[in-house]
Amino acid sequence: MPAQISIMTLAALLILVLAGSPFAADMKGRMLDMTYPYDESTIYWPNAENFKQTKGNWGLTDKGYWYAANHYRAAEHGGTHADAPIHFAQNGRTIDQVPLAEWIGPAVKIDVTKKCEQDRDYLLTVEDIKQWEKKHGRVPDGAWVIMYTGIGTKYYPDRKKVLGTDRQGMDAIPHLSFPGFSPESAEFLVKERNIRGIAIDTPSIDYGKSQDFRVHRIICGADKLGLENIAALDKLPEKGATLYVIPMLIKDGTGSPARVFAVIP
Ligand SMILES: [Zn+2]
Repeated sequence: MPAQISIMTLAALLILVLAGSPFAADMKGRMLDMTYPYDESTIYWPNAENFKQTKGNWGLTDKGYWYAANHYRAAEHGGTHADAPIHFAQNGRTIDQVPLAEWIGPAVKIDVTKKCEQDRDYLLTVEDIKQWEKKHGRVPDGAWVIMYTGIGTKYYPDRKKVLGTDRQGMDAIPHLSFPGFSPESAEFLVKERNIRGIAIDTPSIDYGKSQDFRVHRIICGADKLGLENIAALDKLPEKGATLYVIPMLIKDGTGSPARVFAVIP
């Protein structure tokens, strides 16, 4: 059956071509989903609008076919989400102005879980970054530098344990308590290293007690990206993985829900 053989040969050729393409090579490895689902328990800033899903038309239609569709609404900054530079920099880029390729880069995981266990208001130091470099070499160009606090990874979506309070509204703000980057570590990363952005497993790259959000201002002011509430950091290696951040493409978005995953070689 020559026709069949030629189709099979073509298919085999196609597989060979795809396997040899740079895209297939980049995606080789184990995929780790680092995203929390969106539902009523999704963690938002205490004074932000929570995720709300309502059922739209849902059921068998009178024509006999099934149809299901929901509505949802939410603040931009909640759950596993990305921050665009405009979030804390007046003339910064919006989510839709950051090209897709810019969201993808090598993952550097700095494990400070023990320190955060002792002190839930812990601030990542320049020394913590240098310790990582002692072990793994210089932070690679274009890296996502991830602070692994353990607080979000272990307790998300328990608001009291992650945010330090389960109160809602403005009254909750003075009670926020969770670790974050120190302004000095953010300065170091944007000035002394060539990073893509910073990420954390808590709701903010600034620690909970921050009043002036200096880390956000440094990162956004340097046109870098932010990533908050990322999941599964306990399963990410300290070095070697590639982080893929796929933000929802919101026109003029200051941030947006993102599907975040790593490919681990
Ligand atoms: Zn945000």
